[in-house]
Amino acid sequence: MVTVFQVGVGSGGMAVLDAVARDPRIARVILLDPDTYQTHNVERHLFPRSDIGRAKVHLAKDWLADRRDDLEVTALPWDIDDPVRELELQQLACGADIGICAADNEPAKYRFDSLMRDADRPWTLGEVLSGGIGGLVHRFVPGGPCYGCVASYLKRDVTEAPAAPAPDYSAPGGPAPELRVPASRAAIAAVAGLHALVTLDMLDGAEPGFTTMLVSWKRVEGVFAEAYRPHKFAVPRSAACLHCQSFGPAVAREELDVALDQALERLGRE
Ligand SMILES: [Zn+2]
Repeated sequence: MVTVFQVGVGSGGMAVLDAVARDPRIARVILLDPDTYQTHNVERHLFPRSDIGRAKVHLAKDWLADRRDDLEVTALPWDIDDPVRELELQQLACGADIGICAADNEPAKYRFDSLMRDADRPWTLGEVLSGGIGGLVHRFVPGGPCYGCVASYLKRDVTEAPAAPAPDYSAPGGPAPELRVPASRAAIAAVAGLHALVTLDMLDGAEPGFTTMLVSWKRVEGVFAEAYRPHKFAVPRSAACLHCQSFGPAVAREELDVALDQALERLGRE
């Protein structure tokens, strides 16, 4: 029986969770998200307006209990970046069979990557592109490239700054600054569905031959030449990546911590 460790139960995370947790192989789910349900969430979320003000993890737990009374759910309204929870988070990662990341900020993705890599557990990540023009689903396995390797390979630079030039996702090689524009419920659900499929395939031990799948939902001048087109990337581990070198004995733990801190510094800790 499988234990799933998921960070993020926002509009995308909840859709992934709903699809994955219905699989009878899943026996236990650990959910992490510090956010409360707010008025602006209603448009894209599964929960009703009457739930505004409650913690999203508690709403997720109730949602699952209504559908699978045999599922054990642990709901933790914690911030994955909370240093006070460091040890508990490491233990949770070690106790999981697979991780799901549906966090909406870069520091949380790096943090989850670090936790799952240290615990030697596979995990998946889904990302909806700004404006809902498409999305990305990544699969990470022990010994494979880390999130830093993948982000660096795709030359992604997620930014909140306005007036950024249009990125070319389908041709990695150039810088691709991104501006966050809200996506539609449909675009979010479509990426979440793919994310759930890739996650469940991982439980079967499937080897689909890609690290990252990029899908376009819309044709956008200078970004996607075609709508509804998948692109698959087998991303190698970067020789220059300090995170990945943790698989070898050469790099000291302190050096890795410094590298992670520097990466988080660059991203701007929230
Ligand atoms: Zn790496």
